[in-house]
Amino acid sequence: MSHEDCIFCKIINGELPSAKVYEDEKVYAFLDISQVTKGHTLIVPKTHTKNIYETPADVAGALFERVPKVANAIKAAYNPLGLNLINNNEAAAEQSVFHLHIHLIPRYGEGDGYT
Ligand code: 5GP
Ligand code: ZN
Repeated sequence: MSHEDCIFCKIINGELPSAKVYEDEKVYAFLDISQVTKGHTLIVPKTHTKNIYETPADVAGALFERVPKVANAIKAAYNPLGLNLINNNEAAAEQSVFHLHIHLIPRYGEGDGYT
């Protein structure tokens, strides 16, 4: 189910372009348009859900189940020293796109730009 005004639904549907990192029937992963560090990726469920509060367990389960695969794809492509997983829920917690997403932020050591 997609939401007509949601940019991530448009990305999933191919109405907006994106740099795909991974896709299957349940999730889509793509490079963040504003790279905090090289390889900064977002993984989203294909079902529109606003944030973690409104996400059914099966959708959350499918999303998190795929995180290791995407993390390892990023590791293979960018060879970072580490990786942060970030999930923002509601504006007060810096959520700016209201379609659930997890940030995968590769880390390259001191001075990699992520604070
Ligand atoms: P939030 O602040 O909601 O946790 O993260 C939203 C993220 O979506 C931001 O890091 C922002 O750069 C990214 N973003 C916003 N619009 C687009 C877009 O059109 N394409 C892509 N690839 N990323 C986007
Ligand atoms: Zn959406």
